[in-house]
Amino acid sequence: MAGLANPENWTWRSAPRAPGPIAIIDVDGVISDGSHRQRHLRKQRPDWKSFFQEADGDAPIAGSAAFLALIGSETTVVLLTARPHTLHQVTLDWLASSGHRWDLLIMRHRSDGGLRSPEFKKRSVQELRALGYEPQFAVDDDMRNVEMFRNEGIETLYLHSGYYEA
Ligand SMILES: [Mg+2]
Repeated sequence: MAGLANPENWTWRSAPRAPGPIAIIDVDGVISDGSHRQRHLRKQRPDWKSFFQEADGDAPIAGSAAFLALIGSETTVVLLTARPHTLHQVTLDWLASSGHRWDLLIMRHRSDGGLRSPEFKKRSVQELRALGYEPQFAVDDDMRNVEMFRNEGIETLYLHSGYYEA
């Protein structure tokens, strides 16, 4: 598959890590507290533009930072988020100031606009596995993603952010 060896929507924090065990960690609601901007989605017509514009104001979730720090150094920490590519630099700047441990950031590519979160994350899992990265576990706050990961045979921790309640 063209482009698979170096997907354009992957960003390594420093030098790429060799294939091996990985932990797959979601961003919004798992390591980033976006509760202050959820109000934009609770309108009759969800205002995604405002929702994403305020992403740089998220507080890091301290318990998750502690959790990530406990993961063994042999395991590559992959942040897998369905955030749009337009938030790439915002996300990198936020990560730099957050104190979170991470190795690889995977975000939606420009051409992934129509892809739903579980579809995008499933494709990313397949790309990672094709290159020899072995998911040990995942953490996500969206049950659609939790079910997808489990269907892919990945042990998954559900973290309740409350973002997906009606
Ligand atoms: Mg999330």
